[in-house]
Amino acid sequence: MDACLTVEREVDKVLGKFNVVNNYADKETDLLLQNLQEIQEELMQCPTEEEIGSQHMSLLKDLMKKVKDITTKISSDHKELHSSVSKVGKAIDKNFYSDLSSMSEDPTMDAPEKIKLINEVICEHFLRHGMLDIADSLTVDAGLDLENQMKEPFIEINHILSALKEKNLQPALQWTFLHRERLEAQRSSLEFKLHRLKFIELLKGGPEKQLEALVYSRNFAPFAERHEQELQILMGSLLFVRQGLENSPYVHLLDPVSWLEIGDIFTRDACSLLGLSIDSPLSVSLNAGCAAIPALHNIKHVMQQRQCTGVWCSNDELPIEIDLGNEYRYHSLFACPILRQQSTENNPAMRLACGHAISRDSLNKLSNGNKIKCPYCPIESSPSEAKQLYF
Ligand SMILES: [Zn+2]
Repeated sequence: MDACLTVEREVDKVLGKFNVVNNYADKETDLLLQNLQEIQEELMQCPTEEEIGSQHMSLLKDLMKKVKDITTKISSDHKELHSSVSKVGKAIDKNFYSDLSSMSEDPTMDAPEKIKLINEVICEHFLRHGMLDIADSLTVDAGLDLENQMKEPFIEINHILSALKEKNLQPALQWTFLHRERLEAQRSSLEFKLHRLKFIELLKGGPEKQLEALVYSRNFAPFAERHEQELQILMGSLLFVRQGLENSPYVHLLDPVSWLEIGDIFTRDACSLLGLSIDSPLSVSLNAGCAAIPALHNIKHVMQQRQCTGVWCSNDELPIEIDLGNEYRYHSLFACPILRQQSTENNPAMRLACGHAISRDSLNKLSNGNKIKCPYCPIESSPSEAKQLYF
């Protein structure tokens, strides 16, 4: 963040200089043009056969000198700007890492099946964002075999979202009507909110639409119980249609933010109905990676300084724990209470016969012949009785 602020300060300086130079150039060129026009008009008025008088000559000479001086000044100002602009470049180089090659030595992603997975994730990202033609091209180029079944939900969601952006509620209403029971089961208020928007749009139409709005309010019947209070507000607003909602206590109903929100609510509820995450796996990985890079870069630097680069050689684990916050916490992790290590595929959590859990490495280390004494309760059991735990 500090890096961004430092660069922003440099950018602000440059913008400030740009403004000064721009204002000066605009003002001076306008003045010059005006002078030139004046002298041109004056010359036009002179009879053609007459030679240009000495007064005009000296005026012209003065003006030419002025033009030359000002253009030289503008061009030197322009040259100075170059150095300010290059300062921004230097600030970026100084404050941001440009060489991240040390972060990507890891060959984890090189295997063909991993590359295929990455391509699939990128393809899904395009599908989610409605860039269907790009997703199709990538499918062909990368030799992916994405089934139409995978594409269809995204095509539908995008179609509905683009209609919502154009304030067309119909496709979304049809979709929610078809999935009403399942939406209801996940306590979604999407359908109610769509009807609410439609109702408000009718109210905006003024007194001519009042009756239509009243008739439309029948659509609220299935939601009467859950949204009683909101419905009371909507019905109350009907009284103010004649004087206009914008002059009534119900002016908040017209807030355009409702249209922005409805897109988000639709995406959230539709994704959860289809068993998809709200954000695409690609953006989640990218954001998590960006958040983790400074910490990884620092530790790599320290390792290089202390000449212990070999420490970070494991492909599937990081040298330090990086906390990305709750947003990026998806499932439980197991850390072995004995070795204080996070469990991995090769060193999973094992449940002993007594019910306590330790990692497989600890189990192997603590086993004595065919017996292991639990480090928590003194119950002895056989290591073969221990069962792998799955989180
Ligand atoms: Zn135990």
